[in-house]
Amino acid sequence: MNQKFKSHERRLRESLSRAVDLFEQTFGQPLIADPELQVTATKGFHAAIRKTNDSVTIEFSSGVVDVVDTLWSDLWETTVLTSGERFERIQSDENAKSTATDYADMSLVWLCLHELMHIQLRHLEIWPHAHLIEISTTHDLSFFRTPKPISGLPTEDLTLVSKCHELQADCEATDIFLGLYSKSRWDELRMDAACIFVIMTIMERENQKASTHNETHPTAGTRFFTLLGHLLQMWSYPGARLESGERGTEVRTMGKPDVAEFEAYSKSVIMPLINDAVTIASTAEAVSFLVDIGDKGAIFKDIMAIQYADDLKADILLTESAKEWLHLMPVNERLMALAGHRK
Ligand SMILES: [Zn+2]
Repeated sequence: MNQKFKSHERRLRESLSRAVDLFEQTFGQPLIADPELQVTATKGFHAAIRKTNDSVTIEFSSGVVDVVDTLWSDLWETTVLTSGERFERIQSDENAKSTATDYADMSLVWLCLHELMHIQLRHLEIWPHAHLIEISTTHDLSFFRTPKPISGLPTEDLTLVSKCHELQADCEATDIFLGLYSKSRWDELRMDAACIFVIMTIMERENQKASTHNETHPTAGTRFFTLLGHLLQMWSYPGARLESGERGTEVRTMGKPDVAEFEAYSKSVIMPLINDAVTIASTAEAVSFLVDIGDKGAIFKDIMAIQYADDLKADILLTESAKEWLHLMPVNERLMALAGHRK
């Protein structure tokens, strides 16, 4: 075993252990399974989870670390993420992360949380051979990503189950990873969200290389749209009520948000994050995201529309990302209810 493989394996092991700790700190209870980690010495991005008898295994290729490291070190050369007032503040905080490798490790922790949430939400139960493959260049994913029939779910929904499971794992992982909202954490939230989006972008690019035509995962744009929605909901919590509706958890504020306060949040977190996402996607050469996001204002208008429009229809949405999100949400809610995740 060479030194590089050992170092990659150690970093994946530490990231998984941090992810497990974060889950336990958030919910005050252990995960439903204690997964084993299996790292193979292969290039390229392979990630999967597998259940055999009583044990659950998370499989990563050591190439996962190379791919995440490469993107973060390329991002380190760009100015958006690492310069300006925000970066100086982050640098002046001695507890803050300070190298590209530190941020790559943060991205790996979110990736581990995403895999753990597939396990926690019992997604393995409906996939053939209890094997859920995120990305692989060696397996035929159409075989692995055709679910068993689900009692109570209309058959036309079956083709969307894989994408819905991805959104569910994203949402839970993001909830745990971002932690609690506070105004003093604005810079941190934006940086944490960038760490998350790095993985979403890589998954999209690697899946396209494997020619899966986005059949298994929502596009990086849709996943980013959901992440933005999460950040908006976090901000809206004070004075807001969450309701389960057809489109998932929605914010029902008692009135319009405080305009000045929202503008400040939007200027410090939401809009810069949209810029960060464009930088991340262009650095990663994830072209489809850039095509959809095109005009950066469009995704912002869409995120406001889904939070505040009274009668939401696909034709008022500007981006394909928001449209895919709207298409998946009712199916996702049916799945969540059938799986007993909605009270
Ligand atoms: Zn996944």
